[in-house]
Amino acid sequence: MNEEYNTFLKSNYWKKVRKLVLIRDKYRCQICITKYAPYKYDKKDLEIHHQTYKNHKNELNHLDDLVTLCKWCHEYMHSPDDYDEMVEQEILRLMENPNS
Ligand SMILES: [Zn+2]
Ligand SMILES: [Zn+2]
Repeated sequence: MNEEYNTFLKSNYWKKVRKLVLIRDKYRCQICITKYAPYKYDKKDLEIHHQTYKNHKNELNHLDDLVTLCKWCHEYMHSPDDYDEMVEQEILRLMENPNS
């Protein structure tokens, strides 16, 4: 992770985006919710994952690019060794049908 991105994550802009995504996802990890249980993590254990960076810095208008994950699932998403395409597809499916 580079320095500029670290600064971005501390910005008020990102805090606002993060909050909107957390509220939209009801403070639940969107992987755990499909795999295990709709377990409600502590806010500090939740992170926002970018499905794409094509709208980076304009996230506020592209909240669909972002998804709430717990820090464990997030780590998993970013570890190429155990990267599981199924997980990503599940998230995409979920985002297309948020009420299913
Ligand atoms: Zn999770
Ligand atoms: Zn991520």
